[in-house]
Amino acid sequence: MALKTPKEYVESLRALKINAYVGGEKVSSIVDHPAIAPHINTVAKTYELAHKPEHQDTMTAISHLTGERIHRYTHIFQNNDDLIKKIEMLRLLGQTTGTCFQRCVGLDALNAMYATSFDTDQKHGTDYHQRFKKYLTWVQENDLMLAGAMTDPKGHRSKRPADQDDPDQFVHVVERRPDGVVIRGAKMHNTGGINSHEILVLPGTGLKDDEKDYAIACAIPADAEGVLFIFGRQSNDSRKTEGCGTDIGNPRFGVVGGEALVVFEDVFVPNDRIFLNGEVDQCGGMVNYFATWHRANYGGCKAGNADVLIGATAKTTKILGTEKNSIVKDKLIEMIHLTETSYGTAIAASAQGHQLPCGSQMVNPMLANVTKQNITRSVYAVGRLAHDLAGGYLATLPDEASFDNPVIGKYVKKYHVANPEYDVMDRVKMGRFIENVTSVTTMVEAMHGAGSPQAQRIVMLGQAGIDAKIKMADQVIDGTDDVEGIALRRPS
Ligand code: SF4
Ligand code: FE
Repeated sequence: MALKTPKEYVESLRALKINAYVGGEKVSSIVDHPAIAPHINTVAKTYELAHKPEHQDTMTAISHLTGERIHRYTHIFQNNDDLIKKIEMLRLLGQTTGTCFQRCVGLDALNAMYATSFDTDQKHGTDYHQRFKKYLTWVQENDLMLAGAMTDPKGHRSKRPADQDDPDQFVHVVERRPDGVVIRGAKMHNTGGINSHEILVLPGTGLKDDEKDYAIACAIPADAEGVLFIFGRQSNDSRKTEGCGTDIGNPRFGVVGGEALVVFEDVFVPNDRIFLNGEVDQCGGMVNYFATWHRANYGGCKAGNADVLIGATAKTTKILGTEKNSIVKDKLIEMIHLTETSYGTAIAASAQGHQLPCGSQMVNPMLANVTKQNITRSVYAVGRLAHDLAGGYLATLPDEASFDNPVIGKYVKKYHVANPEYDVMDRVKMGRFIENVTSVTTMVEAMHGAGSPQAQRIVMLGQAGIDAKIKMADQVIDGTDDVEGIALRRPS
């Protein structure tokens, strides 16, 4: 059972009583809802590939707790090789689905809780780490889909959690009982939660001494009493419910991660699912652990998605008959260069990891933040080049029904045919895919997912060691260390 099949994943979701709304209406079955199903298909791919012998090394790992083979999405990073394999897994899945496959948030939250529970025990004499390891073993043995829930609504941005007019703007404890706590609040932009088994709730920010009630990290079943998902509206999402296929663009796998607002309305969390409770000094560290791992990811998943976009764009140039033009080739080269640069930085961040006090492995923080910063630009730049090469039909293409219409269909086809070696619908499908994968939903996810651009810039400045660089400049220009045996010239 350590590796679920895709079918077992879907059936296990069907057994849950997820309380979800899409388009203002309660969903009776998330598995069968056309707006959610593509996102479930994407996660199902993560389960499927783990069973393929050719991907076993990438998609699975050996649990450091049980010695059993487990899905890499439930693994605690043990060394640089694990970090690199994660990025390779993300690129593979990005190439396979052309979208966000959602499980990485839960994976990084799992690792952040593992590391922070250890740190907290060291400092406060608590026993969170043992408790967490028990939970982790159960997650690994059942190959669960986990969603990480970190981003609070935040209310008035100039006010701290404890100063908000509405205390629910940050998830917090409203009642303490001998057997657990009751939490209230919400998390925004929750990737994949609606089709997860478990939600890992983490604090979204560092906290101060008077904010103990906000210092809560815990695991909640996705269908626990009081949990409510309100699905976000995405670009072109009504096309999913209109019954059209081609117009959706990526009909099987959807657009990014199926984000939702998840509300916690007085949710009881038993003690064995609480991994931080009031230790405010550990919250900043937990956020930092999570964000650093997650920022490196984007060089994997977005590179994989860009591979598919490059493919769709290159095929479009063949359909248009422009593929031999040297300017067209150069623009494709630029797309490739941007993509490989992002991937390379993520691999470098992983290759230069370091061990944390708990024994797990952290990526290089500077390179992880550089990776994510690159992505906030390169996804737009690659999308722009795809628009440039594909042409204006991306914005004006008639719908699929027009191609099928007995009166107008012949005109729509006749005037969209370019290279007769290709069926006109090939051009339509490529165009719709490019439209989908460069939609505002995708772009904004690349911009703000794993933290907005400025968050990376702050870390980059902190990590850069500016004082050390000043010393380097002084030393190079006017230093005392000559080349052995040679007295060098100095500024007079
Ligand atoms: Fe994973 Fe990328 Fe989606 Fe984040 S955006 S969950 S890293 S696929
Ligand atoms: Fe994301």
